[in-house]
Amino acid sequence: MRSTFFTESLLNWFENNERNLPWRQTKDPYIIWLSEVILQQTRVAQGLPYFLKFAKRFPTVNDFAIAEEDEILKLWQGLGYYSRARNMLKTSQLVAEKGAGFPSTYHELIQLKGIGEYTASAIASFSANEKVAVVDGNVYRVLSRYFGVHDAIDQTIGKKNFKKVAEQLLPAVNSDQYNQAIMEFGALQCKPKRPDCSTCPLSINCIALKEKTIDQLPFKSKKQTKKKINLYYLVFKNDENILIRQRRGLGVWEGLYDFAAIEITEKISHDEILKYSKETFGFTINKIKEPAITYKHILSHIVYQASFWEIEINSSTKVIDNYTWIDQSLIGNYPVSRLVEKYLEG
Ligand code: SF4
Repeated sequence: MRSTFFTESLLNWFENNERNLPWRQTKDPYIIWLSEVILQQTRVAQGLPYFLKFAKRFPTVNDFAIAEEDEILKLWQGLGYYSRARNMLKTSQLVAEKGAGFPSTYHELIQLKGIGEYTASAIASFSANEKVAVVDGNVYRVLSRYFGVHDAIDQTIGKKNFKKVAEQLLPAVNSDQYNQAIMEFGALQCKPKRPDCSTCPLSINCIALKEKTIDQLPFKSKKQTKKKINLYYLVFKNDENILIRQRRGLGVWEGLYDFAAIEITEKISHDEILKYSKETFGFTINKIKEPAITYKHILSHIVYQASFWEIEINSSTKVIDNYTWIDQSLIGNYPVSRLVEKYLEG
């Protein structure tokens, strides 16, 4: 599939509409990698301050590689998808160990643990102008609507087809500009909701506009259903200290700090919380503050109905395996999830 009208229109549009973003002012593959990982599933306005913080604190991959995981997670706090931050640390360590600088070819990048097809293509294209198609959610949207492609973007076969179309459309020169252009076009003009079709330079040939299928494209075969979990946080406190733990094991909040918790699909009562607290931790409980502080917290795959139960105990700082007592005023120094942050901000 070759469409000169499509590629040229996008390149012209980009010349007049490109946002001035700091990661577009560099060819350094490490800095481009930082921006790409931070911006995955994140809007530019939200990701930009994080990018600036990371690029300033870790100007090279070697600086990143020697950071403590806690510091990375603290800087990442609020961005979600914390496994990305932990994987970045591992990737930076692998690159630093090799000692040959951050790679810039697709072939080398895709072999790095933690770098997938999308990120490898983006870095190779934007840092070295390698002729590879970069296909993200924006690109799926523009291609599916303009060409009227109904292949499911959550199926391997559909993904392959889109990749093929994207590759065929790459211009012989300036493929880096073209990749930037189509992604920017998806972000600013052909938006998920209410795309700006009335001023769109592609509208004359856009199949979805003609067939009135814009709202149906891109097509996904599976409807995502979110799991519902009740999350009961037990915030044990005495006069000065508070009991925290670092979450271990696999999970979205691995490495972050929070409190003792019960995660359960059913609801449990005040009395059951009291019983669990006594039996599991052996504390003498003075008081449970009521009502508990509650939040609904929605992740990509889970809806948490969270409640924070502040429990005053009278034992001073009994040692509990895998938990740490800290001065209450120091909790702000630890990396926490957005949910715990909301609670702490009160
Ligand atoms: S006409 Fe509308 S749907 Fe079609 S490419 Fe342009 S903005 Fe997207």
